[in-house]
Amino acid sequence: MKNLTTYFFIGLFVLYAFPFYAQQNTKKFKVVLDAGHGGKDPGNMGNGFKEKDIALNIVLKVGAMLKKHNDIEVIYTRKTDKFVDLDVRGKIANDAEADLFVSVHCNAHNSSAHGTETWVLGLDGNKRNMEVAKKENSVIYLEENYEVKYSQYDLNAPESFIGLTMMQEEYLDQSILLAKLIQDNFTGDLKRTNRGVKQNIFVVLHQTVMPSVLVETGFLTYKPEGKYLNSSSGQNGMASSIAKAILSYKKSVDENTGDEINELALSEKLQGHAQVSSINSSAIIFKVQIAAGSNKLDLKPYNFKGLSAISMQEDNGTYRYFYGETTSFEKAKILQREANSKGYNSCFIVAYKNGVKISLGEAVKSISN
Ligand SMILES: [Zn+2]
Repeated sequence: MKNLTTYFFIGLFVLYAFPFYAQQNTKKFKVVLDAGHGGKDPGNMGNGFKEKDIALNIVLKVGAMLKKHNDIEVIYTRKTDKFVDLDVRGKIANDAEADLFVSVHCNAHNSSAHGTETWVLGLDGNKRNMEVAKKENSVIYLEENYEVKYSQYDLNAPESFIGLTMMQEEYLDQSILLAKLIQDNFTGDLKRTNRGVKQNIFVVLHQTVMPSVLVETGFLTYKPEGKYLNSSSGQNGMASSIAKAILSYKKSVDENTGDEINELALSEKLQGHAQVSSINSSAIIFKVQIAAGSNKLDLKPYNFKGLSAISMQEDNGTYRYFYGETTSFEKAKILQREANSKGYNSCFIVAYKNGVKISLGEAVKSISN
């Protein structure tokens, strides 16, 4: 009899506690640091300064600073002077399911141009912007088999990339947020010349499925700047500005301001879908179920890996937690991907009609009618 009781309680524990545990395991904030170029590819060598070495030094310093934080995991695409293909850099970040990708470079120009700029993936049609992207993208010609690997890219025709940028579009707002924080620190802390946050097609950024930026720390071709970047004090300054920006970014994501920005952009982007579905079926609502268990939790972002817009439903002592609420199935899928990226790997979409749970198939069928 005693055994039966024990089994009964173990059973209860497994039923209620385990799903909660499985869906809630804590995840570190993963940052992939990408030192541009390396090995047979020196990058630019303005005034004899080597981009590949400067980029690596800065990246290693950023990593050392971030590693002091227990909740951050640092992953490098290279820690030594070696050549790494652009698509491999992206794969490292994607395989790690990283939260951020930061690529570090140095600029070059045959003028006295100087200053820092941080890039996100996108198209703004500026010709000068194309030059920087072409220069950084041209490293693919050093890779074996590049014609096949990058067959979808025509590096001379950026218009052809528009369709390719959809993956990163989801992360554009977060990428811009980080880029701004980095540029602000460069000007605020280091008094560097600010060339701004810019957009273009960088192959290395296009390979990743997370917020991603490419930092041009300055022009080696402009001697005073090259000298600064080649010095350890310059590298320390650049590194602490980048590390500080990453920490501020993480804080804003933890506090969920980042999600709000993203959420706003999403609703703007998906307005078309949302309107269509609300006309067709005002009563159907999609949510993403992220967790269930016997514990009642405060609906605060810190209990849900930084996600806000959490709702809860209690049913016979089981609490179910949902992320978001939308009348658009397309938007629900994006919410699900967002929850996935926070570590809710087994989350799923649920549908309600007039407040009653219905099957997803039924819901999708009725909104398409
Ligand atoms: Zn470069």
